[in-house]
Amino acid sequence: MKRNFSLGNYNSFGVKHKANFFIEIKNKDQINDIINNKKYDKLHKLILGGGSNILFTKDYNGIVFLNKIKGIRKISEDDNNVLLRVGSGENWDDLVEYCVKKKYYGLENLSLIPGSVGAAPIQNIGAYGVEVKNLIENVEGIFLDNGIEKKFNNKSCEFQYRDSIFKGKLKNKFFITSVDFVLSKIKSFNISYRDLKYLDIKNISLNSLRNEIIKIRNSKLPDPRDIGNAGSFFKNPLVDRTTIDKIKNEFNDLVYFKDGDKFKIPAAWLIEKCGWKGYKENNIGVSDKHALVIVNYNAKKGKEIKELSKKIIDDVKGKFRINLIPEVNVI
Ligand SMILES: Cc1cc2nc3c(=O)[nH]c(=O)nc-3n(C[C@H](O)[C@H](O)[C@H](O)COP(=O)(O)OP(=O)(O)OC[C@H]3O[C@@H](n4cnc5c(N)ncnc54)[C@H](O)[C@@H]3O)c2cc1C
Repeated sequence: MKRNFSLGNYNSFGVKHKANFFIEIKNKDQINDIINNKKYDKLHKLILGGGSNILFTKDYNGIVFLNKIKGIRKISEDDNNVLLRVGSGENWDDLVEYCVKKKYYGLENLSLIPGSVGAAPIQNIGAYGVEVKNLIENVEGIFLDNGIEKKFNNKSCEFQYRDSIFKGKLKNKFFITSVDFVLSKIKSFNISYRDLKYLDIKNISLNSLRNEIIKIRNSKLPDPRDIGNAGSFFKNPLVDRTTIDKIKNEFNDLVYFKDGDKFKIPAAWLIEKCGWKGYKENNIGVSDKHALVIVNYNAKKGKEIKELSKKIIDDVKGKFRINLIPEVNVI
């Protein structure tokens, strides 16, 4: 167990807050040892994967568990599908690459999303027309208050757009230790997303689609190794028809998509219309590549970033009467 440990290298914003206690977790027994230890059992606990969807705004007063539980295992297979059990501390993109090499179809559109496998169900990661909830069979883990293990099937994960039971009522209460994925062995691609429509389905392979997505992502998103960021800072808001009509009256270039009985407006469009794209103040700003990405040029503390996010929320609310909700976990 490390004391007063800097989290600077463990969050993609690169802010330099510290944790009182910090430990790398490689198996379930280690988790049980800590929660059964009188020295630690009452302390606050935070599970950290790649730190790519988290904003520390102060030092963490408790234990940070750095998740390094590894392993990819085939549980079952038939002519059509394969079921993989994956340790939650595996790197997400390594898993996607593994599946592409093995010719398991399903995860390729989620190429290059940073972070760990265990965090994927937390906010039901999604990109290029695919959400991970459609490929998850079970999520297994341990309750941090009593050490009880539980397996959640897909339905009981309560997946929604960038949300699940783990981001809601089980936040910081349940340590996800493994995730089961059902992948297809039958060739099929999803290129319905607008950025992929130019591809010719007859001429693509798993590998070429993965490479295409990596290329597009690299052109659109700042790399956290160069400039601190956590990808999209806000969720895309869901609004009703009346709101769409009101905005359309003023902005005939409004971009929106039907989503069930609601409409989704890209938060980036709203933020750009408020003039924030490319904004820079002191050590922080908004990416000039993508208005949804708040960037950290050199801030040591996360508070500045949180304050900027509040200014953006207030501005969008003032101009459009729409509440932006952070996708990033603000601690
Ligand atoms: C450049 C960039 C691009 C991105 N693009 C996308 C994208 O296209 N789509 C998308 O959905 N997201 C995207 N993200 C966000 C991020 O990559 C994902 O949310 C990812 O799943 C976070 O993984 P992580 O391991 O880094 O999570 P962390 O940031 O470490 O943790 C995120 C949250 O999950 C909790 N958590 C982590 N692991 C566990 C566990 N094992 N058990 C219980 N709780 C846990 C943490 O406590 C925290 O609340 C992007 C981020 C960046 C920096």
